[in-house]
Amino acid sequence: MEVYSSHISRLIGSLSSLPGVGNKTAQRLAFHILDMPEEDVRKLSESIIDAKLNVRYCKECYTLTDEEVCPICRNPQRDHRVIMVVENSRDLAAYEKTGRFEGVYHVLHGAISPMLGIGPGDIKLKELMTRISETDVEEVIIATNSSLEGETTAMYIAKLLKPVGIKVSRIASGVPVGGDLEYIDEVTLLRALEGRTEL
Ligand code: ZN
Repeated sequence: MEVYSSHISRLIGSLSSLPGVGNKTAQRLAFHILDMPEEDVRKLSESIIDAKLNVRYCKECYTLTDEEVCPICRNPQRDHRVIMVVENSRDLAAYEKTGRFEGVYHVLHGAISPMLGIGPGDIKLKELMTRISETDVEEVIIATNSSLEGETTAMYIAKLLKPVGIKVSRIASGVPVGGDLEYIDEVTLLRALEGRTEL
């Protein structure tokens, strides 16, 4: 027998499908939502739908943005000849917060993982190669995570870029193994960037 009404169970089910939300947290959130004024619940659900409908990939760097081209790619002050390759938009945000990187980014939206069945075709790698072939690029800085997947991806990109003849570097491994870039403090990120080595 169900403990909760089917409406509550459905809400708990939807919430627990989110990353990092277990069943207990989902229950807590569900009851919190039910306690909220109807107006606030409406705002919450509308903001989710609004973000989903209006956020898209920047057509240059593939980060999530409201416009066709994101503010970083649109900025003429940025050095468009230096591209930092990151796994996701959160990693981009972490580097952007340091305020010290003047180049532009390329967001892969994932990393190669043979174990999870994620191959080179499943991330924005082809898009990176097209971009490099169409624009004047001097250096590609690979800033994928230092996890097994991140390292595999870095090696794969380095191999792809070798025949192209542009400088390819990898951020220093001061970044804890398996650590998500977004959780690392700015000093560590800057050190990783400054200590990058050519591949
Ligand atoms: Zn962009």
